[in-house]
Amino acid sequence: MEIEVRKLNALKKYEGDFGFDYEPPADICLIPLCSIAGKVKVEGSYVIYEDESVGITLTVKYDLVGQCSYCLSPAQKEIAFTSDILYVTEKDEDNYYYDGIKINLKTAVDDAILMSQPNVLLCKEGCTGIDVSNK
Ligand SMILES: [Zn+2]
Repeated sequence: MEIEVRKLNALKKYEGDFGFDYEPPADICLIPLCSIAGKVKVEGSYVIYEDESVGITLTVKYDLVGQCSYCLSPAQKEIAFTSDILYVTEKDEDNYYYDGIKINLKTAVDDAILMSQPNVLLCKEGCTGIDVSNK
């Protein structure tokens, strides 16, 4: 999951697409009793600008599986999330940094996975939780 910017520049490939499967870290799912099923599909495109900054659009897709956060029934949800980011060669607070040679997308992909997660995973829309009334 690297973009070899210097090499692409030399080849005059200033724009392009990429795609790969990513094995997510085990602790990246923050929802209790849930996990990411299998691998995360990552797709995106890059544009290398004249000042060596690199604009990247990336989409992460994966399935969340586990127990409903309200009623504990089995639950599953397909997640797709796109983010636009910029890599720069001089550190600042708003963008990702790279050394001008190549970009490793791991941090940005992990961030996208974190940002894409809902706060809860529900078995169905409008789940009201465990029925505790004694009918
Ligand atoms: Zn539920």
